[in-house]
Amino acid sequence: MAVQQQINKFIQGIGASPGIIIGKAYLLERFKVRLPQKRIGRGRVEEEVKRFLRAIEESQEQLMEIKERILDPEVRKHSFILDVHTMILKDEMLLQDTVDMIRKEEVNAEWALDLTLEKLDSAFKAIEDEYLRERRSDLHYVAARIFRNLLGKKHDDITKIKGKVIIVAHDLSPADTLQMDLEHVAGFITDIGGKVSHTAILSRSMGIPAVVGLEVATSLINGGDLLIINGETGEVVINPTEEVSQSFLERKRRTKPIGRETLKSASLPAETCDGVRVRLQANIEMVEEIPSAKMHGAEGIGLYRTEILYLNRKDLPTEEEHFQAYRGLVESVYPATATIRTLDIGGDKFLPGYSKNNELNPALGLRAIRFSLKETDIFKTQLRGILRASVYGKLRILLPMISGIEEIRQAKAILEEVKKGLVKVKIPFDEEIRIGAMIEIPSASDIADILAKEVDFFSIGTNDLIQYALAIDRINEHVSYLYEPLHPAVLRIIRWVVRSGHEAGIPVAICGEMAAEPVYAVVLLGLGLDEFSMNPLSIPKVKKVVRKLRFDESQSLVEQLFQFPTASEIECFLRSWMAKRFPEDFMECDPEESKH
Ligand code: PEP
Ligand code: MG
Repeated sequence: MAVQQQINKFIQGIGASPGIIIGKAYLLERFKVRLPQKRIGRGRVEEEVKRFLRAIEESQEQLMEIKERILDPEVRKHSFILDVHTMILKDEMLLQDTVDMIRKEEVNAEWALDLTLEKLDSAFKAIEDEYLRERRSDLHYVAARIFRNLLGKKHDDITKIKGKVIIVAHDLSPADTLQMDLEHVAGFITDIGGKVSHTAILSRSMGIPAVVGLEVATSLINGGDLLIINGETGEVVINPTEEVSQSFLERKRRTKPIGRETLKSASLPAETCDGVRVRLQANIEMVEEIPSAKMHGAEGIGLYRTEILYLNRKDLPTEEEHFQAYRGLVESVYPATATIRTLDIGGDKFLPGYSKNNELNPALGLRAIRFSLKETDIFKTQLRGILRASVYGKLRILLPMISGIEEIRQAKAILEEVKKGLVKVKIPFDEEIRIGAMIEIPSASDIADILAKEVDFFSIGTNDLIQYALAIDRINEHVSYLYEPLHPAVLRIIRWVVRSGHEAGIPVAICGEMAAEPVYAVVLLGLGLDEFSMNPLSIPKVKKVVRKLRFDESQSLVEQLFQFPTASEIECFLRSWMAKRFPEDFMECDPEESKH
């Protein structure tokens, strides 16, 4: 049904993949199927089970066909996501629970599957980590395919699109994204999704401009509407006036040469004008992101989040699976170093068989290293995989959520035990493997001078550090105005951690989102950080700033910043300084805006 035509309507979403484009909307019907709920009676139960299993089989065949059709080797690299979806289709919990539901409740397959999904969904919803929560969408993509097959609905074929369009959909699965023909698809926008969904990650790797999380796109846009999308800022304009189109095109003209020029210099060393060298590295979740990380000038991986290995499955990853994943990682990153962070999740939230405690304060609960030290078999399996991979390149281990010295000592003792086991069976590993601590809990930063003697490097996780230091829930939008990276307390903590690290002779990295903000680069540089790890796309911009700065000026700026008592004053002073220093790239501070 057509919706009322919108004229010059601005909507705001989340920029998932940069690029400004103008094009005609192509509405893709996805996920909007009405599910029939019927009681079927005992006599029809087995027939219904068969119908369900047939839909599963059909879904598997479709995924296989999609995979076979991807010819472009660059795009093929991402096709493992289709394997993940095929694995979900074989998931015992999904299959057996649905079949049991059909038999027990005597309901149709659609209803039974919907009930099973609800159950699996609530387990996913409880997960606090944004990245892991996003993985829930994989389950939904798979379910939508099964529903469509049950209902005999045709899948809109994305490969048959003609002309050059902007796809508008409620949601897009990674399978959809993988099939996009860049000849015909200029970009896409969706109602739901976040920056770290597989679809968003893919769009960045494939270079397709995209905006996600628009909420109302499919209810406001008709097929054929003219759209402007800005994949960086997340802005979308429906049927823009000539004047608005021109201003976007002007912005596109202005940003393009900077983009190209910045990318060209991405591989240059991150060195200040007065010769101080820092290292800019990438945060990644999948090995598939490495080519993009390299293209954007990453000198190694500063944070490889390993949580994805534990997802979408009923069992735990085996040592061999860990080994293969880490070997792939270190080999592709070589000769640079890969930093592998051990499991960082409140284990009882999603690991099968570990849903014992329903924690009231999961952020303060059995998370990360605490979980690994409790479930030592799971930890040992991961460590064996890491150690075995260590001879295939350069890697170092990072321990998340360290709160005190005992945790490091215990983790190191377990590592030694695993090493001994490997020696016994003559499996080689890097005997000098470096081990680092994430500094993201105030108790750890307070004793950074003591901790520094126990580890080979520090990595400051500002996402959590700010949360715990300022008592601001990082995912609670009601207090997000208090989430201030430039809070004097945060700056003091970073200064102390860097000093402590350097006094003990170890490098200090930062791997929170703060590292990705070019305006903060001067502050972090002046504070003396050695390594900055961030999402790959931000590296060129940060590098550009670093290369234009002098280390001594960043140091004296930081000294001045410490004179101010509030984050908003610090921010305002900093932004004005940047605007004077780089007038073409940064704008003057608006004191009113910096208060909010
Ligand atoms: C951090 O806390 O800053 C960090 C990098 O870890 P995560 O965002 O995965 O908690
Ligand atoms: Mg963290």
